[in-house]
Amino acid sequence: MTVYHFMARRPHLPTLRHRLAWTYANLARAHAALADGCANYRRSDHIVRSRLYSGLMTGRMSMRSLLDDEIVKLTSVRACAYCGAQEHLSVDHLIPRNARGSDDSGNLVIACRTCNSSKKDEDLLRWMARRGSFPSIFVLRRYLKLAHAIATDLALLDEDAERAAATRLLTFDPLMLPEQFPPLDRIRLHAEP
Ligand SMILES: [Zn+2]
Repeated sequence: MTVYHFMARRPHLPTLRHRLAWTYANLARAHAALADGCANYRRSDHIVRSRLYSGLMTGRMSMRSLLDDEIVKLTSVRACAYCGAQEHLSVDHLIPRNARGSDDSGNLVIACRTCNSSKKDEDLLRWMARRGSFPSIFVLRRYLKLAHAIATDLALLDEDAERAAATRLLTFDPLMLPEQFPPLDRIRLHAEP
């Protein structure tokens, strides 16, 4: 029997690969708890995080394709991905176009006019931090997959995050990847008004 020792603390995160894997593993932990309506993390949620983190680092697991995120987008209520508003909706580039974000559907989310004009060309995580909010699970998951694909294409995954940021090649801000998530009651699966 395999015993999974869950990590109570953040592991050492020397490279961008570590930071992306850790953020994604934290996201999966929060998703598991929220999907079951839990107010606090259970032992099983911590195990989800530990397994995913080590799986991503050893290459046994991967961040899955954007397909399931596209399904979520098509099947959920039409609302702003950032604030949950249901009026004055348009399309926003998650990774801004000016930051060479693509027009692929994976990079497009529905956003209200207010969020769209407030976010403009700012990095999603930087913009949200400035507003004192945290992205929903589904927006962050999509963002992390895009970020991982971009870092892979640029061969920067094994670079120190600060050095990777200094190259100015990345179209997201690696220094904004949250090493710690807010408490569960501040995280939503989908944005809510
Ligand atoms: Zn909005």
